[in-house]
Amino acid sequence: MSLSRRDFLKFGSASAAGVAVGARALDLAPVEAAATALKIKEAKAFHSVCPYCAVGCGQLIYAKDGKIVDIEGDPDTPHTLGRLCPKGAATIQLSNNPLRPTKALYRAAGSDTWEEKPLEWMYDEIAKRYHATREKHFIEREKGKDGREVTVNRLEAIGSLGSACIDNEECYLLTKFNRLLGLVYHEHQARV
Ligand code: SF4
Repeated sequence: MSLSRRDFLKFGSASAAGVAVGARALDLAPVEAAATALKIKEAKAFHSVCPYCAVGCGQLIYAKDGKIVDIEGDPDTPHTLGRLCPKGAATIQLSNNPLRPTKALYRAAGSDTWEEKPLEWMYDEIAKRYHATREKHFIEREKGKDGREVTVNRLEAIGSLGSACIDNEECYLLTKFNRLLGLVYHEHQARV
């Protein structure tokens, strides 16, 4: 069967209307409410704030038997009224996603495998590399447009990409730290 563009659009909108009518006929709200109620039955609710960004959406964290069983937006939060963005709505995965790496992993240059390393080793390695790179590439003075030398105290050999998982205070400290070392390539990728 060959469909013209017009037929295709007609067919598409008829199917969409059918789905919409079907969805109206089948009211899933009570089922969804019952499923959530079941999940948080006998769970204790704790007020919290989403850790991801400065919007600071309020959350209700439900815990049962020492385990987080659900995280929802807190309807008493005045600026969000219980809404969370997709990232905030998935915060439960910070605590109970079995796929989340919980150990420090290192991949050496040129290697295709990740090795587990102790955190202390990582800290030492990062500090060593920061120091060596800064010693080698730090620019103290350079010529301005008018040809005169000016003090710039700049480090262009290291770039810093912040994490969407760090909070305001950690972002502030990271910024201070980077500026202290002279970094100019300083970015952040919140809510990717
Ligand atoms: S990441 Fe989303 S849910 Fe979390 S505080 Fe920011 S806007 Fe709110």
